[in-house]
Amino acid sequence: MFVNHCHVMPPGAYDAENPALGTVEALREIMDELGIDRAVAFAPLPRYVRDPHQANQWLWEQVRDADRLEGFMALSPIAPQSLPIMREFAEKGLRGIKTHPPVYRARIDDEAAFPFYELAAQLNLPVLFHTGVHGWLLEEYRPILIDRIAHEFPQLKIIVEHMGGWEFFGEALAVIRNNKNCYAGLTSTLDKDWAWYIPQELLQHVVSLVGSERVIFGTDYPFRQCDGIRHDIEAARSICNGPAEAENVLGKTLVALIGCD
Ligand SMILES: [Zn+2]
Repeated sequence: MFVNHCHVMPPGAYDAENPALGTVEALREIMDELGIDRAVAFAPLPRYVRDPHQANQWLWEQVRDADRLEGFMALSPIAPQSLPIMREFAEKGLRGIKTHPPVYRARIDDEAAFPFYELAAQLNLPVLFHTGVHGWLLEEYRPILIDRIAHEFPQLKIIVEHMGGWEFFGEALAVIRNNKNCYAGLTSTLDKDWAWYIPQELLQHVVSLVGSERVIFGTDYPFRQCDGIRHDIEAARSICNGPAEAENVLGKTLVALIGCD
């Protein structure tokens, strides 16, 4: 198994009372426990490490010699300093970018973000968008806005993470069906008691409609811990039609997307 969407951060950054939570070491323990071979780790968001260069540098130091971890940067699409950071860490070997429009207060189709998308496409870095209700003005980050980005930058690979949650599921699915360069991210959609839950018949429909080669499982560690992730892996298998599809969703699609072996 090769899973996406693990947030890692320096000890104490996630929870000062329990400094091990959210660390790379604690992630490795969960991977061992659940039989996860490899994972994509995200650089800390500004809430955990304020300076974006420092956050991405820290992540790179964690993953550069780790054969079971690949790294994604965390960047704002509208901050001018994101461009040199993206170049630097693409060259150093990070494999993609996580961006979070409501956290960065960045409207998805703001033209100020176009140089960011263009550079990511040039450098062959997939961009993962958080989609789904998360404060700020919904109008600025509803998933349908990704359609324009996918059209303007056909070489850019895009992960529509959380599939918009239940509230925006239809928009997220429309964007993915409409654009071959878009992928469905299942992170945090598989548990009824969780923020972006989507009824499982709808997710089953995604897998059969767009194909398991465009569907990607992620953990949302450390927001999800061992038991939650175990539950989600089983739920991901259960929305697939047989083991070959499950293998795609639980690893092969991600390997093909980021081009690592
Ligand atoms: Zn996340």
